[in-house]
Amino acid sequence: MFKDKLKGFVLDTLPEDFWPYQKDYLKVRKVINDSNHFTKEQMVDFQFNRMKELIDYTWKESKGYREYWSDNNFNPSDFKSLSDVVRIPFISKEVIRDNIELFSIKNSNKPYVVSTSGSTGKQFQFYQTKKIRAQDTAFVDDLWSHFYSKMSRKTKRTFLRGGIQKNSIQKDPFFGLRLSSREISAELVFEFINAIDKYKTPIFHVYPSSLYLMCKIMIENGINRPKHIFDVICFGSEPIYEFQLSAIKKIFHEPLSFCYGNTEKVAFGGNCSHNDAYHMYPQYGYTELVDSYGEPVSKGQRGEIVGTSFWNFQTPFIRYKTGDMAVLGDSECKFCDKKYQLLSSIEGRMQEYVVSKSKSIMPITYFSSIHDDTFETIKQFRFQQKEIGVVDFLYLRKENLETDISSIRQRLEFALGNGYDLNLIEVENINLSKSGKMTYLDQFLDINQFM
Ligand SMILES: [Zn+2]
Repeated sequence: MFKDKLKGFVLDTLPEDFWPYQKDYLKVRKVINDSNHFTKEQMVDFQFNRMKELIDYTWKESKGYREYWSDNNFNPSDFKSLSDVVRIPFISKEVIRDNIELFSIKNSNKPYVVSTSGSTGKQFQFYQTKKIRAQDTAFVDDLWSHFYSKMSRKTKRTFLRGGIQKNSIQKDPFFGLRLSSREISAELVFEFINAIDKYKTPIFHVYPSSLYLMCKIMIENGINRPKHIFDVICFGSEPIYEFQLSAIKKIFHEPLSFCYGNTEKVAFGGNCSHNDAYHMYPQYGYTELVDSYGEPVSKGQRGEIVGTSFWNFQTPFIRYKTGDMAVLGDSECKFCDKKYQLLSSIEGRMQEYVVSKSKSIMPITYFSSIHDDTFETIKQFRFQQKEIGVVDFLYLRKENLETDISSIRQRLEFALGNGYDLNLIEVENINLSKSGKMTYLDQFLDINQFM
């Protein structure tokens, strides 16, 4: 912790030019700036060249892709124009997960492992690099620069999320202010507001579920908003729902920025200041929406987001099925004049809440970010709630490994807090949720009555 603070302090005092991967970051900002008003033809050329480079490289370097494509009758020589993308077979988490080394490329870029809980709670791992992370930040910063023109890596932000700790307010010299809480109370909201007014960052980056809970308490208790006015409130990490927005807008009147992205970094987009549709960055990757037969959907129709990242040469994701649902919008924005594909809404996965004994609600999302080694002896997990204040943790053992039940219980109880009884239940298999969706929680209670 101290080491992190020291590092943050040093970085903060250094000019940005000395920051790690700053050249890569700036290069991406320039690529975006140079191309954001391309004509449709120019954009097709741009995407074709990126795609071609990626396909050729992957074919050469990744045995997994080479075999997978050959088995599915695709050869890079088939890719002659951008519309040939449809000849490339889709790839899923499951295919990559079972053969991660074959689908990844070993080069000298010092990759690190990213873990995410994939469909039905199975862990999914792949490789990324710090360079990819810096490049990704460039896209986020470009999006936010529509609302705060001076946006850079040094811009300070206030970050509000659900958390493992009970209460937490941390000032990080490098980053800004971090607010985090497992349970938000009125007292804590006052502390958050004081911290916001003290540090006055231009950006307020929030988990929708967390800001919603904060606003709900402010409304119920007649608490005034912070005096500080942010340049923009940026939502991330979770889908946002109308009921959340309507509560948030009663308190905060700042411009709002919405974005869609995913851990695998295969597609990214967000709103502009005049249009709430998600403008999918064509420089980030190639984004498609397909129906359950894999066919492209038409404007106004719902489909699964399929993404291809132009920047990850470590574990390439090419026509990767994300499991996230969205509705196709226009093929350009008439307000900002960008020829980007628009998605009129992102439905994502249903947001997941549990209800405590005192009938307060808590988003379960942060459990899905527990990637502790404690869980390594588990093959798969799922939460379920059938009774108020009671959460069941269903799990599958891994073969040949002793599962450490007591430490799993300890960690989960710590994360849940006092408001819940926890049952750990070993099961033989874990199916798709009752809704047929991929989820970490089967909520059997009617959650709307607690909202
Ligand atoms: Zn626009």
